[in-house]
Amino acid sequence: GLYRQSREEGKEGKEGGKGMDYVFKMVVIGDSAVGKSQLLSRFSKNEFSMESRATVGVEFQTKTILIDKKLVKAQIWDTAGQERYRSITSAYYRGALGAIIVYDITKLPSFEQVPRWLEDLRAYADPGIVVMLAGNKCDLHEMRSVPTEMGRELAEREGMLFLETSALDATNVEQAFLTVLEHIYRAVSRKSL
Ligand code: GDP
Repeated sequence: GLYRQSREEGKEGKEGGKGMDYVFKMVVIGDSAVGKSQLLSRFSKNEFSMESRATVGVEFQTKTILIDKKLVKAQIWDTAGQERYRSITSAYYRGALGAIIVYDITKLPSFEQVPRWLEDLRAYADPGIVVMLAGNKCDLHEMRSVPTEMGRELAEREGMLFLETSALDATNVEQAFLTVLEHIYRAVSRKSL
């Protein structure tokens, strides 16, 4: 299950996890241009760019954090543009313990696609996966087309955590990733008892 896999990865130093207590894989999904890669670079490097990423190909970033005095390495995968071609494979989701589904609060169609991303998770990811719904670009409140309540209601209905974020001004970015990682940690450590 979730516990054994993450624990073994940490102990065996897979993906450079030597000395880590845990390695947690997370995926960031959602339509093109909603801000997935900028959220990830804000969280992992505290950087933001107005440029859209040019390269295509699945990539991940890592960031080490401390939860409950344990060293946790978050290995966070970015679709790196593959979603444009609907070519995200089951391998992308394999072993993921957490997911952030991102939409753009100024683009209703990106919100309307959230159920499709949930279907992908249900098809390919572990049923115990921790899922956060993130309404990104909340700095662009004058262009908002998805009310906060719509996001919150969908999240509640589907058992997701919910936050509105801005990769541009860093609103709730750390909170979004850390909340998911803490939920994973709690699930994993419960199983160890
Ligand atoms: P991805 O295709 O989902 O990975 O989207 P990107 O991270 O490449 O972002 C797409 C565009 O939206 C880029 O021009 C980003 O600079 C911009 N962007 C991303 N996040 C935000 C945000 O929180 N606020 C604003 N205003 N722009 C953002």
